[in-house]
Amino acid sequence: MTADLHTHSTASDGTFTPTKLVEAAHSLGISLLALTDHDTTAGVSEALAAARRLGMGFLPGVELSAEGPPGKCHLLGLGIDPNYPCLIETLRQLSQKRHERNLKIVGRLNALGITITMEDVVAHAPQGANIGRPHFAATLVALGAVADTKEAFARYLGDEAAANVEKETLSPAEAIALVHEAGGLCFLAHPGLLRRSQHETHESRVRALTALGLDGIEAYYSSYTPANEAFFLRLAEKLGLLVTGGSDFHGANKPDVPLGVVRDGQPLELTLLPSRLRALAVA
Ligand code: AMP
Ligand code: MN
Ligand code: MN
Ligand code: MN
Repeated sequence: MTADLHTHSTASDGTFTPTKLVEAAHSLGISLLALTDHDTTAGVSEALAAARRLGMGFLPGVELSAEGPPGKCHLLGLGIDPNYPCLIETLRQLSQKRHERNLKIVGRLNALGITITMEDVVAHAPQGANIGRPHFAATLVALGAVADTKEAFARYLGDEAAANVEKETLSPAEAIALVHEAGGLCFLAHPGLLRRSQHETHESRVRALTALGLDGIEAYYSSYTPANEAFFLRLAEKLGLLVTGGSDFHGANKPDVPLGVVRDGQPLELTLLPSRLRALAVA
């Protein structure tokens, strides 16, 4: 019995449709899957229907980008009610802000001499996708402006690159409260990838988020070393936090990250996940 509680579909920046993602997980023998698209739950109902058809456990989820005290981070909401009105309305507003940001990115690329329109980006993204920088990267490759995604981020789209525009997000406190209101548990995603300020440790950041209501941290993650995993398991135990885990699968948009794998080709055993989290499965 294995699980993968961090995956993306074509509803955000993955390349598998929700149905194809669930089918792929099922064929790998995964018994509990969470769909955690960036700032959207648009893929959840399709994934849930596929999981029900296949008799597979499923957790509706979302990965929220957050910025504000105590710092920038990604938060996973797991076991949320995807139809909770306040959640839907907040995600709709974030999507609108994302659209405004996308238009600014187009403007910056144009100013850098690249002929690209928002229509080009929409045409190169899956239908209904919550469009972001990975879709810009794919479009720049398709237009021949860059050789590959790596070059697209290095030259134009990366956090410090010339065409990037900061994304408007919720604060960590708002994101955690929203996940709780929607009935879910809130976890710090990939704490190993946090960008910390000089005086900060992982522990101080996680403690600050815990004071805001954080339920747990992602202690199992595809890019962790065994030492990272052990460190975050110890930290969770020390602070009385739950743990979750997943691959962060994006299909062809992260070709080095296979579905269901959290370390050296190994899956995540379902029994390593807390029962409070497993109890939120709906399919
Ligand atoms: P956005 O939400 O539009 O800011 O896009 C963020 C997404 O872009 C992340 O979730 C990653 O999937 C992807 N991404 C960010 N930086 C890079 C990078 N340097 N190379 C490839 N993909 C990246
Ligand atoms: Mn992504
Ligand atoms: Mn993330
Ligand atoms: Mn992710």
